[in-house]
Amino acid sequence: MLSVEEALQKILNEANVLEAESVPILESLGQVLAEDIKSDINVPPLDNSAMDGYAVRSQDTKGASEKTPRFLQVIDIVLAGSISRQEVVPGTTVRIMTGAPIPRGADSVVQFEDTDEQKNKNTPAEKITRVGILSEARPGLNIRLAGEDIARGTIALKKGIVVRSAEIGLMASLGYSRVKVIRRPIVAVLSTGNELVEVSQSLPEGKIYDSNAYSIASLVKRYGGIPKLLGIARDDEAELVSKLKQAQDADMLLTTGGVSMGDYDMVKDILARDGEMLFWQVRVKPGKPLAFGKIKGKDKNGKSKSIPHLGLPGNAASCMVSFELFVRPALLKMMGKKNLTKPTVEVIMEDSIKNDAGRRIYDRAIIEKRDGHYYARLTGPQGSGILTSMSLANGLVLIPEEITKVNKGDTVQALMLDWNEEVNL
Ligand code: AMP
Ligand code: MG
Repeated sequence: MLSVEEALQKILNEANVLEAESVPILESLGQVLAEDIKSDINVPPLDNSAMDGYAVRSQDTKGASEKTPRFLQVIDIVLAGSISRQEVVPGTTVRIMTGAPIPRGADSVVQFEDTDEQKNKNTPAEKITRVGILSEARPGLNIRLAGEDIARGTIALKKGIVVRSAEIGLMASLGYSRVKVIRRPIVAVLSTGNELVEVSQSLPEGKIYDSNAYSIASLVKRYGGIPKLLGIARDDEAELVSKLKQAQDADMLLTTGGVSMGDYDMVKDILARDGEMLFWQVRVKPGKPLAFGKIKGKDKNGKSKSIPHLGLPGNAASCMVSFELFVRPALLKMMGKKNLTKPTVEVIMEDSIKNDAGRRIYDRAIIEKRDGHYYARLTGPQGSGILTSMSLANGLVLIPEEITKVNKGDTVQALMLDWNEEVNL
């Protein structure tokens, strides 16, 4: 049986980076840049004021103080978005608002607080003809230089980085409305099992609602993919084969259920027969019955391709843990991302855990920071079908295969599912 690392490596070997697409910048959030973003302009475009105040020649403010104001003639007003036609010659000044270009002749801006502006409080701005400067201004004071954020001709964002809000803002500031990014993978999601009923239906005796389709499809979305819900397939060979055909144009196929030892667990058999099975079973708990292989598909030009197929366990908590461990890294790799691992922290256990399975355990835990340390307590019963164990958890504590018992107070590693310390209790 493969270790978690061996299984993950085999999966990543089959996950190829997808092609680039052009999207409106807002849609690129979380995607990877497929081109360098070069600047054709200076940001800001011109030297401009960082303050509301007066644009002056610093020479004219020599010796200015509260007691010895230097009086200047106000020759113009300039607002953000306009340009003053006036030149600031000795003895004059232009009233200026934040963001407005610095008029010719001026080399600094004195903020209102350092002028006798208060005296003119009842005079409309355009009627102010004289202002007293109350402090010396050094050249460059309160001036934002053209190109100080991004200079024309430079690469503002490098190909390969992940687009976040700051990058979207930056692209907008350069006048980009669209951008080339690695496209999002389309992930077909199929639930298998005679016992399953679609959530919109009433629940006959002996049946259960299909929850896996929804937890798995939402995980696909969360990590940047596009889920394609294929519904439910009965444990019937013909039906399974026909449903699997609908995954032909996807970039990845996820099935849940049908990969254990039961009489009707036929997903792995069909994968082995019609596709190629690369492994089945991993030394992990929960999530041992994981099947991985490739099925035949077609790209949008009708060319044949092979699609990675992860046969996730049917149990509701197992399939989500398997997704986090094996599907998420593959999806991220396909999206061109380099960092495929979830953040981990060292936690002090507040519960004890027995490991008699000889497998790596990922127990669902509530991880909280107190007095500078992270503490982990289990979310209650850890049965592989208990979905509330996932719902309460913000992390998974990792018990290595060779450790048979973890005691209260021991330190272990925890994989953070949600990097916050909020707990849904
Ligand atoms: P299987 O591996 O198909 O035998 O499934 C293992 C367990 O997971 C069974 O108890 C199933 O009822 C349950 N299960 C399978 N598929 C789903 C699903 N889509 N939603 C919720 N539970 C499921
Ligand atoms: Mg089943």
